[in-house]
Amino acid sequence: MATPVRDGRPPFAALAGERLEKLFDALPSPCYLLDEGALRRNGEMMARLAQRTGCKLLLAQKAFSNYDLYPTLAPYLAGTEASGLYEARLGREELPDKEVHVFCGAYREDEFEPLLTYADHIVFNSPRQLAKFGPRAKRVGKSLGLRINPECSTQEGHAIYDPCAPGSRLGTTRSQWDAQMTPELVSLLDGLHFHTLCEQDSDALETTLQAVEAWFGDVLPRMSWLNFGGGHHITRPGYDLPRLEGCIRHAQERWGVEVYLEPGEAWALNAGYLRASVLDVLQNGETSIAILDASAACHMPDVLEMPYRPPLLGGGEPGEQPYTYRLGGPTCLAGDVIGDYSFSAPLEEGDSLLFGDMAIYTTCKNNTFNGMPLPAIWVRRENGGLEELVSFGYDDFKGRLGRRN
Ligand SMILES: *Cc1c(COP(=O)(O)O)cnc(C)c1O
Repeated sequence: MATPVRDGRPPFAALAGERLEKLFDALPSPCYLLDEGALRRNGEMMARLAQRTGCKLLLAQKAFSNYDLYPTLAPYLAGTEASGLYEARLGREELPDKEVHVFCGAYREDEFEPLLTYADHIVFNSPRQLAKFGPRAKRVGKSLGLRINPECSTQEGHAIYDPCAPGSRLGTTRSQWDAQMTPELVSLLDGLHFHTLCEQDSDALETTLQAVEAWFGDVLPRMSWLNFGGGHHITRPGYDLPRLEGCIRHAQERWGVEVYLEPGEAWALNAGYLRASVLDVLQNGETSIAILDASAACHMPDVLEMPYRPPLLGGGEPGEQPYTYRLGGPTCLAGDVIGDYSFSAPLEEGDSLLFGDMAIYTTCKNNTFNGMPLPAIWVRRENGGLEELVSFGYDDFKGRLGRRN
């Protein structure tokens, strides 16, 4: 692995030509490394979409909330999207001049007043929540929305990411709307919101938009905005941008609405790495195993939750190269396995590994299960310079379990 990076394809394209010894010598292990240049290239692509269509793009912070890098994305986004009070506050604090949008499955009484000090757009999940909180929010000038459920599943395989599954708690179906949306409630609304996609292309959006039109086409002309949610894999090579632009224009022209998109992944796709090291190598029957200082369960939880096998620089499919290993974390969880990968040479204790596409759903989702230390977070600046943003220690583990003294 001690060679310049030759693979010019995502997720390592931004490192092309970089000498890996330089990275590995400079960085602690394990360690997340955010790539400022890759973030900017994503941002530029998003900004071109906004310029061509007039849509507004928000950063869904639940995917990526390393706010030290918000200034890098700031020129390209209209605002941030939050899943609740804390993310709304973070968006307001770190990008004070941008819009703050919030959607939450249900708001709490005690957090709603503070939320009003941070958010511009507030999206409710149900007519009941709209009735409970909407009038108050409207009085102080907020723009109000209702999340709808267009009952149109476009994804297979990832059932936990399908808000259109039967019995879903997310979004208001047309029959719930008909039963509960009084004219007074409808008059509170400025917009509608749907979020049904996950890492999908614009054909799935097009299908969804047809369902939105079939169920809610009659109410949309009364709205001033329509939020298409997230899950648009806009910055993935091969994504069908013209079709997305067609969807945006269709909504703008047909209903006269302002269109918002609030992707998370797309902003930080392939814009980070997780550097790890081999702590031990062992053999169990036919299976060669390497235990790393990074854990799937703690440091890349979506590997187990989604699940998926993350890209690894120099790591092939099992059997593709001569030496195949199962890579796992040091925790006691039997399933703390990152995946099976093949290498051109045997792995040895102390070897460094670099996982790709580690900026999203990692630093904002990791945990200290098993008392695992949290990896430090570094950034690779556009000039190649490496900077530590934050590191963690024992206090970060202990401090969330009991008295802080
Ligand atoms: C998760 C989520 C997003 C962002 O989704 P990505 O898949 O990261 O693009 C946007 N809006 C809502 C309401 C979400 O729940």
